[in-house]
Amino acid sequence: MRNGEVSYWWQALGGFPPRRASLPGPLEADVCIVGGGYTGLWTAYYLAGLRPQARIVVLEAAFAGYGASGRNGGWVTAELPGSRAVYARGPAGKAGVRALEAELRSTVGEVARVCQAESIDCDFARGGRLSVATSPAQLARLRAGLAALRERGDGDDVYAFLSRDETRERINVAGALGGLYAPASARVQPAALVAGLAAAAERRGAEIYEATAVTEIHPVGAGGAGGVGAVARTAFGDVRARSVLRCTEGFTARLPGSRRALLPMNSSMVVTEPLPPAVWKEIGWDSCETLSDEAHAYMYAQRTADGRIAIGGRGVPYRFGSAVDHLGVTQPSTVAALGAVLARMFPAAAGAPLEHAWCGVLGVPRDWCASVSYDPPSGLGWAGGYTGHGVAAANLAGRTLADLVAGEPSPLTSLPWVGHRGRAWEPEPARWAGVHGLYALYRLADRLESASAAERGGQARVLVGEALGRVGDVVSGIPH
Ligand SMILES: Cc1cc2nc3c(=O)[nH]c(=O)nc-3n(C[C@H](O)[C@H](O)[C@H](O)COP(=O)(O)OP(=O)(O)OC[C@H]3O[C@@H](n4cnc5c(N)ncnc54)[C@H](O)[C@@H]3O)c2cc1C
Repeated sequence: MRNGEVSYWWQALGGFPPRRASLPGPLEADVCIVGGGYTGLWTAYYLAGLRPQARIVVLEAAFAGYGASGRNGGWVTAELPGSRAVYARGPAGKAGVRALEAELRSTVGEVARVCQAESIDCDFARGGRLSVATSPAQLARLRAGLAALRERGDGDDVYAFLSRDETRERINVAGALGGLYAPASARVQPAALVAGLAAAAERRGAEIYEATAVTEIHPVGAGGAGGVGAVARTAFGDVRARSVLRCTEGFTARLPGSRRALLPMNSSMVVTEPLPPAVWKEIGWDSCETLSDEAHAYMYAQRTADGRIAIGGRGVPYRFGSAVDHLGVTQPSTVAALGAVLARMFPAAAGAPLEHAWCGVLGVPRDWCASVSYDPPSGLGWAGGYTGHGVAAANLAGRTLADLVAGEPSPLTSLPWVGHRGRAWEPEPARWAGVHGLYALYRLADRLESASAAERGGQARVLVGEALGRVGDVVSGIPH
């Protein structure tokens, strides 16, 4: 089994893409975007559409799609990246949250539209999202969540409850007791999407420089000399621009001044070899829904276009000091744990060899709510903190950032995540202890809630599990 090499997705495309040139030397631009993932590239793409004459430069430390954008589960999901209650504190209140949710749902269609317009072949399949409950405690949580959604006015067209049989008819997950189905979700090959997007941004005139790490971002005035705009510093020289946008999500902590802004949360994946038709006959999954469960430390999965199961989960949640992985290499214990989840949920695929394992980091703000910000006087902006729901959200964030930088007020520029600021993460070792403690709590809660534990120890164990999960949610602020 291969481990690392950034991700299976890149290797499936034939290996790493040909490397673009590094920054040739100091230069001046209208807009400098730091980070060549979905956020940076969507921003470049839309901004180049709005301002065809502008010089837009993307600086990428490795290669476009090296980060989470080339490693993720391929869920283009309309899931809200954060807490409704927190976003509702903004000036538009609950109506603002509903507007953000509606925009996220239509974003799935926008990604499809651009993929078609730009001939980006990324296995886009709009099969919806299915979250399964595999224990009575998970089912109770799912029903409670659905009741809250109904109270807010979301009907069957947004979230539909599926009975045990309806769930298994879609995907035959062992032990599934029911499911929640959201049609506004699609499956993609993530590296194919980011590679196609980078090429599309270049066709619109954006310049992408790779192997060009930015070591510091500061307003022009802060560098000593006066003037308008900001500077991105690199080993090859400075890029001075009217606007400098930080689009580095899980890697943000490495930039001076941003070390406690976003926590690099780890997520790991494994992919099977292609499964034989007999196994697919048993499992179903004909519509290629994106799949998750209702566990506290949840799993996520997709059926790939070439008939594999790619399955992911938290693994080791966080590395001390906001360190990041080396080329996506993940821990053997995480591979074993994901293999066990695969075998438990899909007994028919239990013997399937795992072909590749990898991991990556996503950005988590302290209040678990994403933000898109731009400060016209300094020219500094950023977007990120999508807490694992970044594939669709990065498109919406990119469009929003483009409108903000272009100075064009739009329905997007007043969404409640615009200008949202959370507090900083705690310093170490509290940060490490808090995150590891939280996931230890969640895993214990999941074990106590599991159907087999309930059989062994009765209802008391389940109630303790549910209580521990709630404690974890309250202490961490993770929205559910
Ligand atoms: C394993 C995994 C599974 C996931 N699954 C899903 C999913 O199924 N659905 C979903 O919605 N979300 C998912 N996510 C989250 C989602 O992938 C991210 O939120 C999203 O890709 C973030 O895009 P980005 O462009 O902001 O960041 P990234 O894609 O991480 O891009 C940041 C880029 O910035 C570059 N960079 C960093 N520092 C510097 C610097 N100093 N100078 C220059 N360049 C720099 C990096 O090399 C990187 O290429 C997953 C994440 C992971 C890791």
